[in-house]
Amino acid sequence: MLSKEVLELSKQHSVIRDIFEFGMQRAKEVGPENVFDFSIGNPSVPAPKEVDETAIRYLQTLDPVEIHGYTSNAGITEVRKAVADSLNRRFGTHYTENNIFMTIGAAAALGICFRTLVDGPEDEIITIAPYFPEYQAYAQGAGCKLVTVLADTSDFQINFEKLEEAVNEHTKAVLINSPNNPTGVVYSEETIQKLADLLEAKQKEYGHSIYIITDEPYREIVYDGFEVPHVPKYYKNTLVGYSFSKSLSLPGERVGYIVAPTEAEDFENLIPCFIAAGRLLSYVSVPSLYQKVIGECVDLTSDISIYQKNKDLFYNALIDMGYECVEPGGAFYLFPKALEEDANAFCERAKKYDLLIVPGDSFGCPGYVRVSYCVPTERIEQALPLFKKLRDEYK
Ligand code: PLP
Repeated sequence: MLSKEVLELSKQHSVIRDIFEFGMQRAKEVGPENVFDFSIGNPSVPAPKEVDETAIRYLQTLDPVEIHGYTSNAGITEVRKAVADSLNRRFGTHYTENNIFMTIGAAAALGICFRTLVDGPEDEIITIAPYFPEYQAYAQGAGCKLVTVLADTSDFQINFEKLEEAVNEHTKAVLINSPNNPTGVVYSEETIQKLADLLEAKQKEYGHSIYIITDEPYREIVYDGFEVPHVPKYYKNTLVGYSFSKSLSLPGERVGYIVAPTEAEDFENLIPCFIAAGRLLSYVSVPSLYQKVIGECVDLTSDISIYQKNKDLFYNALIDMGYECVEPGGAFYLFPKALEEDANAFCERAKKYDLLIVPGDSFGCPGYVRVSYCVPTERIEQALPLFKKLRDEYK
């Protein structure tokens, strides 16, 4: 007998994955050059050459027993220190290795934060829709409820009236994601300050801490004129989840971290609890080779300018054609309004042109579609006339 809960989850297909699989099948039928797959968020820009050079050098020069050995649960001390120093240079903070816990990407960072904060099924974590669909699985894994609050769709910043209504005595954390998947929106300093003020008041009202968990795998992918505020500077009970999957184009190497600020109320227990929560999730530590590589390459990014070029080209063209879309400040997604009420029907119609895009329903925001532009620029150029034809069908 298999677990009913797991069996049930196994039947809930990822719509994004299904579209991606459809694209691969379709490419076999009509040729890959005729399928325009904007469904998935796999970085299209290679990791900087220093990443591979460092990995090769370590493999050639370090003791194999060391390079392939277990590391301590929280991560290699020198690597945690390199991450802390990098954050300090960037944000003027005063972190040490004791504020950093290395994780297997942002997914494990979030799973561990959830498990650390959640006490039982009545506990709630609030997130802002549209949101990364895997948050549901992380909440289920931690045994809590994920409550979603729709953003203000005029700019996809937080709708504070709705958020305030959703916070209650069971709220353990508010999970935010900026730059955002799927909208590309970057939360302004004003949004972060308002969130901090609201949660300060709610902590007092309910007499317990309410954390902000800030999911930041796209922090470095941010465009001209935008800045990502460092949330712990505004609110001390913040846990930052980070990943090198997107900024360094290393999603398969599975490296990320959690920042636990010294000022957080439960600071002295946080890193030990992350270790314990990791054990509950059968998690040991981040692969040793890539921890070491990150220790040396922590300040590098892959060539972000390509994403900016893609965004400018795609966004401006869609607006000129008459699509409605909030301009992204970062990440590599557009989230335009579907041209009919049912985004699923709209995506089906797009498929006629072999344009593969994802209905916003999967992100908790029906009526919109996610268009992922981490693809070679010429693929966007080739697809634009098809988006125009799709638009013209609705005239
Ligand atoms: N959070 C968001 C918003 C994401 O888009 C992703 C991956 O696409 C993740 C978390 C998981 O990232 P990782 O590969 O680091 O586990």
